[in-house]
Amino acid sequence: NSQTTPQALIDGNTLAAKSLAAYGITHMFGVVGIPVTSFANRAVASGVRFIAFHNEQSAGYAASAYGYLTGRPGILLTVSGPGCVHGLAGLSNAMINTWPMVMISGSCDQNDVGRGDFQELNQIEAAKPFSKYSVKAKDIKEIPKCFFEALDSAVSGRPGGCYLDLPTDVLHQTVSESEANSLIKSAADALEIEKGLKKTSTASVEVERAVDLLRNAERPLVVFGKGAAYARAENELKKLLESTGIPFLPTPMGKGLLPDTHELAASAARSLAIGKCDVALVVGARLNWLLHFGEPPKWSKDVRFILVDVSDEEIELRKPHLGLVGDAKKVLELVNKEIKEEPFCLGKNHPWVEAISEKAKENVSRMEAQLAKDVVPFNFMTPMRIIRDAILAVGSPAPVLVSEGANTMDVGRAVLVQTEPRTRLDAGTWGTMGVGLGYCIAAAVAEPHRLVVAVEGDSGFGFSAMEVETLVRYQLPVVVIVFNNGGVYGGDRRNPEEITGPFKDDPAPTSFVPGAAYHVLIEAFGGKGYLVGTPDELKSALNESFTAKKPAVINVTIDPYAGAESGRMQHKN
Ligand code: ADP
Repeated sequence: NSQTTPQALIDGNTLAAKSLAAYGITHMFGVVGIPVTSFANRAVASGVRFIAFHNEQSAGYAASAYGYLTGRPGILLTVSGPGCVHGLAGLSNAMINTWPMVMISGSCDQNDVGRGDFQELNQIEAAKPFSKYSVKAKDIKEIPKCFFEALDSAVSGRPGGCYLDLPTDVLHQTVSESEANSLIKSAADALEIEKGLKKTSTASVEVERAVDLLRNAERPLVVFGKGAAYARAENELKKLLESTGIPFLPTPMGKGLLPDTHELAASAARSLAIGKCDVALVVGARLNWLLHFGEPPKWSKDVRFILVDVSDEEIELRKPHLGLVGDAKKVLELVNKEIKEEPFCLGKNHPWVEAISEKAKENVSRMEAQLAKDVVPFNFMTPMRIIRDAILAVGSPAPVLVSEGANTMDVGRAVLVQTEPRTRLDAGTWGTMGVGLGYCIAAAVAEPHRLVVAVEGDSGFGFSAMEVETLVRYQLPVVVIVFNNGGVYGGDRRNPEEITGPFKDDPAPTSFVPGAAYHVLIEAFGGKGYLVGTPDELKSALNESFTAKKPAVINVTIDPYAGAESGRMQHKN
């Protein structure tokens, strides 16, 4: 403050807070305690909003999703030892989804390492497998440099998780305020110089080749994923697709870059589209399990892939026909420019476009017939239709949808309609369950103009259900809809012959207390709870809670025998 003289001393906590704010960080998620409480308080005083959670795991999931939604590093703050270990869940999730995040953990006094200090752990080693960069500030003077390096590393190249270690003794060291300011300035300057050196550009010959391949393809397809969403490539994608008339297929989190209802959307004809396409331009999506590794039998063995990815390692790994390394938005700008030189368009009557559109219509009308029925006790389809219609009725800005659970997520992916970019957050590349509440909180603070609606299974909800208190504390506009079928995959699905042994009378490993009153949980903290079992009850709860835009839990009773074990992943269980 203005009272301090240049000679005034500041400690590591204050310097850390100032460094964070100087980089431009505005939000941090976490759990405080020894030795990071002062850091959190000083960060708040420096203008950083601190969202305090119950568990670092959820806070870490929040930080990762915040990074994805904003394109800036999401910050997780944890205590040492166990706090750091809990936080690794979030850090690894950021890494696997390629989302920018920095986990900052306090650690034990460097002078007591190896002697069994309070919450002692070699956190740098623990974080290594789950981070692209990790660093320890061994002295107060290293703090600004470590912050700037970790934060910048999270967002540069392929985004990912980074780790920053702040030992207790360093947080308590002091420097003069004037030295602190010059340390921050030189850390910022060093970064600018490095950024200038890193600039690269995509080779134009490759762009020409890519456009030639698309132009000469008989059955071209454009696939895009959450990397394209992260790159904010929606306008370039729209231009590409609408100028060429090529059908497109979003991955689950790519949904919304173009509306699911777009006439070129091949989602409802997915098997045909990927099974028969001869050239596939894949933008910001990995050819991993979610895309069947780009191999037969799902894909034709002759398909030629053009991959656009910011990571050259990813392109090396997949060995596509052609790889374009770079930011999806920038690469697509070049592609569109090249197309403009010699435009081409398949048109509605093109046999490939027609085949996809007919198949999609057929599949959609089959699903609509299922959805139209009011089945009570609820299956998955009836409530999902009602929720879809309620979300669509909100209009623009569209709510952020958070989705997890086996059947709930599978059915939801097909039924719920995404109309705007980056409005779907789900279990992602790892199929991580337990992300729901963290993602809701991240979405609510990152996108304050949107309502947040979570549609999740009871088991997914249970991982982080205590965070409903966090929703209430910050009064976030989040409506959590729990599909309650009494357990993982719903109730006891064992064959009677399987139920033997001394513990045969225990509840099945898949079951929870039947009829659990999850809606009462949020009421304990002053939020709004609803228990619904019929279409009218659900409609009225959705109507009321969407209008109120206040924390609410809608507990939807689902027939425990509806849905399938492991959802559509049964072959792996
Ligand atoms: P999805 O789950 O939607 O299929 P993935 O997470 O598998 O998507 O793939 C996302 C890909 O996007 C990653 O390989 C990542 O390197 C890449 N990526 C991240 N940021 C960008 C960007 N700005 N431009 C292009 N690709 C990006």
